[in-house]
Amino acid sequence: MKTVDSYNFAGKKALVRVDFNVPLDAQYAITDDTRIRAAIPTIQKIIKDGGSVILMSHLGRPKPPKDGGEGFFDEKYSLKHIVEHLSALLKTPVTFATNCIGTVAQSAAKALKPGEILLLENLRFHNQETAGTETFAKELSTLGDVYVNDAFGTAHRAHASTTIIAKFFPNDKVFGYLMANELASIDKVLNKAEKPFTAIMGGAKVSGKILIIESLLDKIDNLIIGGGMAYTFIKAQGGKVGSSLVEEDKLNIALKILSDAKTKGVNIYIPVDTVAADAFANDAKKITVDINAIPDGFMGLDIGPKSEIINAEVIANSKTVLWNGPMGVFEMSNFEHGTKAAAEAIVTATKKGAYSLIGGGDSVAAINKYNFGNDVSYVSTGGGALLEYIESGSLPGVKAVEE
Ligand code: AMP
Repeated sequence: MKTVDSYNFAGKKALVRVDFNVPLDAQYAITDDTRIRAAIPTIQKIIKDGGSVILMSHLGRPKPPKDGGEGFFDEKYSLKHIVEHLSALLKTPVTFATNCIGTVAQSAAKALKPGEILLLENLRFHNQETAGTETFAKELSTLGDVYVNDAFGTAHRAHASTTIIAKFFPNDKVFGYLMANELASIDKVLNKAEKPFTAIMGGAKVSGKILIIESLLDKIDNLIIGGGMAYTFIKAQGGKVGSSLVEEDKLNIALKILSDAKTKGVNIYIPVDTVAADAFANDAKKITVDINAIPDGFMGLDIGPKSEIINAEVIANSKTVLWNGPMGVFEMSNFEHGTKAAAEAIVTATKKGAYSLIGGGDSVAAINKYNFGNDVSYVSTGGGALLEYIESGSLPGVKAVEE
């Protein structure tokens, strides 16, 4: 893997694609700076070598005005709101270019001296970014001498700055540290997994997870299913699920996953009991019942205590664990127990020497809710990118740098 460690940036202008797509509140204050912090080591390495840094990123999904112009502006999505915090984290002033291309960007980049850092305005103020337009990518490329991709969170998009641009740096393109860490952790799980390997899949629906489950069946020993998707599996097998979340059009797919797992020798653990409620609310009336016999008017919102114990034992005996998606509606305190128990079991397995990778928005939120971020092996910063990597074996942004 070509990383920033294999490149000497002395006297070079490094054009670095980062993922500064951070949440902002109504006053434009950053509410979670994890993604900014994750990019700091790469920036520091370039500066330490004697290079200068041109940072480019997107922020949110700005919509162009109706008349469609390129290079529009929307205060809500301006990266200028990031400058002050970024400067503080780096302990050095960061300058800002109000457009990512054109004379503003050109002259700001040209004026950069070794040790200096420039942040470009939101790439998505140009429609050509997400369209992956080659001329736009080429114009961006003229700003720097070397391209660094450290934006794992958008590596599954073939956008101008994440993928198309790489071809303009045939001999000068490398991965940043965040990207390298993410790729190493996926590699450890997908290609170098110590067995037994357990995947824990939860979350709301089966529909978004079919491809990833099918592709994991070739690699894993155990598949634990939880969350809303469990009830589709139960109903498909003839169970009574009350008013639980069920995707009626996915019943056959659930059965196919079960039979494929059997053919491939994968043990599947579907919950045996559930905590069901008479409304989708934290203060709803709740009962713990056999998952095949949920009374009418009740919906399963968490896995039950027997399932927690079965899952915990499987997880504790694993050497590799991949977790995507909560076991229940963990946002509500009365239905978080199954998710918390799974998180605790992963921490226990990790302490016993297992490698644990947590990926996908809501399991990351759960791990952070219980403050277990430092007690698991790796927490991925890119939910969609991680899932797509597992489904398809690579990502456009990764291939573009490797080619
Ligand atoms: P996903 O984005 O597919 O990983 O889904 C995460 C969401 O699934 C979370 O917001 C959970 O509250 C929700 N979820 C988990 N279990 C259930 C359930 N039994 N019924 C409804 N929603 C659930």
